[in-house]
Amino acid sequence: MKRYKAYCFDLDGTVYRGDEPILEAVEFVNKLTRSGINPFFVTNNASKTPAQLLAKLTSYGIKTSESQIMTSAIAASLFIKEQHPDARVYMIGEAGLHDALVSQELNLVEKDADVFVMGIDRDITYEKLARACVEVRNGAKFIATNSDKVFPTERGLIPGNGSFVALIEAATDVKALYIGKPQPHLLEAIMVKHGFTKEEMVMIGDNYTTDILAGINFGIDTVHVNTGVTSAEQVKQESAGPTYYLEDLSQWKI
Ligand SMILES: [Mg+2]
Repeated sequence: MKRYKAYCFDLDGTVYRGDEPILEAVEFVNKLTRSGINPFFVTNNASKTPAQLLAKLTSYGIKTSESQIMTSAIAASLFIKEQHPDARVYMIGEAGLHDALVSQELNLVEKDADVFVMGIDRDITYEKLARACVEVRNGAKFIATNSDKVFPTERGLIPGNGSFVALIEAATDVKALYIGKPQPHLLEAIMVKHGFTKEEMVMIGDNYTTDILAGINFGIDTVHVNTGVTSAEQVKQESAGPTYYLEDLSQWKI
C-alpha cells in the first residue's frame, strides 16, 4: 500500500466502538505517530469539542492534539466564516458547535439571523425548532453540520441530526446545505489548513455512505475497515468502491 502524508481516520467504528477502543486501530495510529506522522481524526459528531474528543483518544493511549481533530462543527464554522463572515448566526446544537462558532468569532443571535446552523441537540425543544423554522422562512441560510439520520447506541439506533434537519426541511420547504461526510468539506478544511495535495491524503473509515463516499467525492484514496457500520460484503455491492479493503488496521504494514 502507498505511503501518505495525511491519514484521516473516522472515529466511531474505526478507532473506537462507543466507549471501547479498537485495539488494532489504536496500535496503527501509534505506529504512525512513532514514525513521525501525525494522523487526523475526522468526525461528523458536532456535539463534542476537540478537547472532549482529545480526552477520549488520550484515554485509549493515543498521543495527538486538538489541532488534528476535524469535526463537522469546526468545518461548518469555517464555512460560515468564509462565506458569510459578518452573518448573524442562530444555532441549534451542543458545546461542540457552540465553541466552534465562538472560536471563529461569529455573531451568535437568538433572532433575525442571516444563517441558521443545525447540529445534534439532545436538549431539543419545540420552541427551538419553531424559532429555526421562522428564521429559515424569513430567509436565513440553512446549514446542517451533518446528515446522519440515526446513530448506533447500546439500546439500538436513535435519532441523529439528519432527522431533525429533515423536520425543518419539511416545515420550511428549504433544503439544508450539508457540511459533514459524505460532503468533502472536512477533508478540504484539512487540505487547505496544512497545504496537502490530494495524492498525499487518505480517508479511512467503516461507513460506506459517509467515510468512503466523502473520500471519493473529494477525490482521494480511501480505505474501508470492516470494524463498524458497513460490512465489506455490503461495500462490494457498490459501483464505486474504496481504494483498499482491510479487515482491521493490523493488516496495514507501514
Ligand atoms: Mg464510523
